[in-house]
Amino acid sequence: MNFKEEEVLAGWEDILSKKYQLEMTKIADSFPEERSVFVSYKDIDEYNPDLAMFITDRPDRCLALGRKAIRNLMPPSWDNKGTINLRIIKLPRDNRVEIRALRSEHLRKLVAIEGLVKKTTPVKPRMTRALFVCTKCGAEQWIEQTGMRIRKPTMCTSSDGSCNRSLAKFDLSEERCVYLDTQKIEIQEFPEALKGGAQPERIMGYLEDDITGSVFPGNRVILNGVIKQVQKSERDESAVFETYMDIHSVDFEEQEYDEILITEDDEAEIQRMSKDAELFEKMIRSISPTIYGLETEKEAIALQLFGGTPKKMEDGTVIRGDIHILLVGDPGVAKSQLLRYMTTLAPRGIYASGKSASAAGLTAAAVKDDFSGEGGRWMLEAGALVLADKGLACIDELDKMSEHDTSALHEAMESQKISVAKAGITATLPCRCSLLAAANPKRGRFGDGDIGEQINLPPTLMSRFDMIFTLKDKPDPKADTRLTEHILNAHRRGQVRKSGTTEGMEDLAGKIMAETGSITPSYARDIMRKYVAYSKRITPVMSDDAYSRIRENYLKIRATGGGNLKSVPITARQLEAYIRLSEASARARLSRIVTKEDAERSIRIIHYYLDKVFGNEGTTVWDSDRVSTGMPAAVRNVMQLVKDTIREYVAEKGVGISKGELLGALAGQIQEKEILLALKKMDAEGEIYAPAFDVYKLLE
Ligand code: ADP
Ligand code: MG
Repeated sequence: MNFKEEEVLAGWEDILSKKYQLEMTKIADSFPEERSVFVSYKDIDEYNPDLAMFITDRPDRCLALGRKAIRNLMPPSWDNKGTINLRIIKLPRDNRVEIRALRSEHLRKLVAIEGLVKKTTPVKPRMTRALFVCTKCGAEQWIEQTGMRIRKPTMCTSSDGSCNRSLAKFDLSEERCVYLDTQKIEIQEFPEALKGGAQPERIMGYLEDDITGSVFPGNRVILNGVIKQVQKSERDESAVFETYMDIHSVDFEEQEYDEILITEDDEAEIQRMSKDAELFEKMIRSISPTIYGLETEKEAIALQLFGGTPKKMEDGTVIRGDIHILLVGDPGVAKSQLLRYMTTLAPRGIYASGKSASAAGLTAAAVKDDFSGEGGRWMLEAGALVLADKGLACIDELDKMSEHDTSALHEAMESQKISVAKAGITATLPCRCSLLAAANPKRGRFGDGDIGEQINLPPTLMSRFDMIFTLKDKPDPKADTRLTEHILNAHRRGQVRKSGTTEGMEDLAGKIMAETGSITPSYARDIMRKYVAYSKRITPVMSDDAYSRIRENYLKIRATGGGNLKSVPITARQLEAYIRLSEASARARLSRIVTKEDAERSIRIIHYYLDKVFGNEGTTVWDSDRVSTGMPAAVRNVMQLVKDTIREYVAEKGVGISKGELLGALAGQIQEKEILLALKKMDAEGEIYAPAFDVYKLLE
């Protein structure tokens, strides 16, 4: 269908006067605060579907006519105060193009692309009309600026020809030029849409005028706009162009879990699942079933998917509901595999490594723009945690992350936002995500001795995890047999599935498939995702029973502290972990009430990890300082005792204490080995020094 200009104009006038009169009156009153008429595509389509298609086919010309229609329709009081934009919103799904599917056929067309905002520049003015003055005769000339590079006049237009027209030089009259706010953004494909580890494709876009500053890194958006090109570099006149979008409007995904469509049939299935007595067992079996064992870890991760309830208290305090889990383990215990699996299972899952090459790292950063033509503007770039907003961030090799990330992570995990202040960019980005992290022990593999000491992360960071699971790879005939068989079975099952035929195998293939059935997830990935998304509608409330159970349990454990060990067995952070986990357990059952059973589940899981991490092997006394200070209370106490002894000696005698005298003074109280260890530690930490060989003084 082809439309003449008058027809397009008349169409716009019809649509606008019928449906958008109110908006236009409002703009007349509140200009320039409001200066865009947002027209829903549906209204054009209902008026005339052919016209709607014509507009998406020739957007630039048609929208110019639409703006003309607005000018014609504005009330007389308007008096042409300025430019009003016409922005089409909510393009239909048919007009959505995946970033990687953009081709030359989309050039100059109005399309919608969806994605995750990766980077944004600050809002800056761009020249839209430039005024040039001839240096010889002073004649003025306006030139429209549409592209990214400035267009200059080629000759003077002065009518009397007093200057040598074509050789004229021009001055740009900057203060009289017309500027428009502009902002460049970069979006990338949704990670969940990527197949098999493909890298996400990206595209640049430009926002102009009143819609600048409306999107931030980490936002999930649908951009409606026109696909255009710019030559990559002015100098080499190559025919390869950079594609970008001239963004007309931005639609936001309304609800974080809306991306997952749940039909009535799904809902019935979800309700049925929630009543299954084996719900939790099946959930555990649906998390990376190829990985043998790790049942409690998988149970915790299942609860992490559901999450606790974020709360805003009356005094404005915000308490996070997201559950953070850390896996610290020997190499080759399937940490990475589990993380990768969870990225595909969790709605909005993102995988990143602490060693990540991206400048934004795990959190966010101001980075130099590498896009040609603009000479490195600073952009705000989102890292994994921001991109996983309202989802699950799976961070592998956490112990290898940069210093920048380590410090940013503190803020990110607790307050769930990240602040950036650099190169004139200041921003606070939300990162309301759960963190599932993996790390190796300090020396690559767990050795003997204290666990807390063997984890190579700042203690302050560790204490922000709700749960820390240690995974040791210790040869053990029984467990090894089962693990070996499981891995062999998984591979055999994979072989049969891949080969796709049973020909020439007699009954081998059938036998293998029958024997390895437990390696398939109990719940398919698709329904699991839907189940999790659906469960977010529920905010369970704690019953009296659950309240008492958690209260008694916590107080009982606290009471084991103190004494001669002077240890703090657990802290309020663990108390909050009990609460979050029990909330998640109720939500997983789609229950509006947190019951005693939910409390029991949280206690069981937390005690499982506390025993391994806070525990003093062989005893049942926990010591949270193993994690929060990186050493058990006992070692700290030895250090204190050694220090006191040195101090007293030096105060009395006025000289340093020799090693022999120190050992003698403490004989019978502490073992020699421990004293020497304490001395070594204190020396390393700069608490003592040796004025002579094996003579010590305090550095105070
Ligand atoms: P990590 O990240 O802990 O160093 P990986 O995730 O890279 O370890 O796992 C190494 C390999 O060992 C993977 O191919 C995985 O399938 C296998 N593997 C390790 N532990 C198990 C297990 N418990 N069950 C099944 N496979 C396992
Ligand atoms: Mg790994």
